[in-house]
Amino acid sequence: MNAVSIAVDTIGCKLNQAESDALARDLIVAGYRVIPSDQKADIYILNTCTVTHIADRKARHLLRMAHRRNPEALIIATGCYAKRASKELKGIDGMGIVIEDKQNQNLIELVAKAGYLPHDKCESSYSFRTRAMIKIQQGCNRKCAYCIVPQTRGPELSIPTVQILNEVKHLTDDGFKEIVLTGTHIGSHDDLEKLVQQILENSQIKRLRLSSLQPADITPSLLRLWQDERLCRHIHLPLQSGSDSVLVRMGRWYSTSDFKNAVHLARKGIPEISITTDVIVGFPGESDTEFEQSYDFCRRTEFANLHVFTYSPRPNTFASTMKDLSPQIKKGRSIKMLKLAEKLSQDYKNRFIGQTMLVLWESKTGRFMEGLTDNYIRVFAPATKNLSNELLPAKLVSSYKSGLMGELA
Ligand code: SF4
Repeated sequence: MNAVSIAVDTIGCKLNQAESDALARDLIVAGYRVIPSDQKADIYILNTCTVTHIADRKARHLLRMAHRRNPEALIIATGCYAKRASKELKGIDGMGIVIEDKQNQNLIELVAKAGYLPHDKCESSYSFRTRAMIKIQQGCNRKCAYCIVPQTRGPELSIPTVQILNEVKHLTDDGFKEIVLTGTHIGSHDDLEKLVQQILENSQIKRLRLSSLQPADITPSLLRLWQDERLCRHIHLPLQSGSDSVLVRMGRWYSTSDFKNAVHLARKGIPEISITTDVIVGFPGESDTEFEQSYDFCRRTEFANLHVFTYSPRPNTFASTMKDLSPQIKKGRSIKMLKLAEKLSQDYKNRFIGQTMLVLWESKTGRFMEGLTDNYIRVFAPATKNLSNELLPAKLVSSYKSGLMGELA
């Protein structure tokens, strides 16, 4: 009997990626052959996202593709979209199981119950990222007007420290050099500072990255942790809008001046830090002046990069009851903000041309290796050997594609 092959695919945030990677690891340990989702599999599992209507559309498309790839396969949808609108997904041709509450479901048990039993010996080819993601927290107790996450992820919950430390140990033993701590809001973990300290003290991990923080999380004592150079000089601080009146309508709990202070503190504590952000354009009622305020705030803050989201109403959120702006206005603002994002990102990266920096090399395409510096600059360098998962320095010499061209030192 051949081993059952299972393809695991993910849409959405780093938290979803962390959960899919953990699931793939558990399936492999249980004795399943986990393979990439573009191959013919016995079972396809899609971890969905519903944060925008585009994520919904992508999930439906991938589920249909899986059915077309193998009409006999068992297709399973899990994740936020499955929880929010299971009926919508059940209507898709070939859909097998839609998991409505992933916290209460053991997927491995479910697969076995469906008659797909594990095998003693099998080779998996799931492509884990070079950086391993660990979920340390999930859920959100807030209610931002545009956001569907509290409905799908539920209230805040911290993962026990012992469990996280064990996972760090396993991943380090498996050869991972970088770990990303992830969650809906890792700053609301019971004690993030202590957790990071314990990981650094008790593990041999070469790099530790925090996925996303809020302005109030940036305190002098948290920043002191960066004295350990293994902590990556990169903080993602979601702004959402650089206009105070829009922030109030969004139900955000900080002002642009709170945000500015947090950025100032981070830059003082961690020189050359990369600060990236999320910004929503076209929130209901956003006037031309408010958009310009937001644009200007992003420009002046000199983020290392902006992730620009065009507002789209999500069901059962407060903002979905507000009058939506026209698609033309939203598109125009999105184009303008995206251009700014490109310029800011280029300006930040160019500051490092001439420096030699450590790069965690990820993959080789043709003659070029590519990887990331600790401050999240993508580096490309010609190499004769495949240096994947090596942490090696490169001299950064010029601007190239989405990052910089380097020379292996
Ligand atoms: S955007 Fe607001 S509601 Fe959504 S997850 Fe973040 S804090 Fe919670």
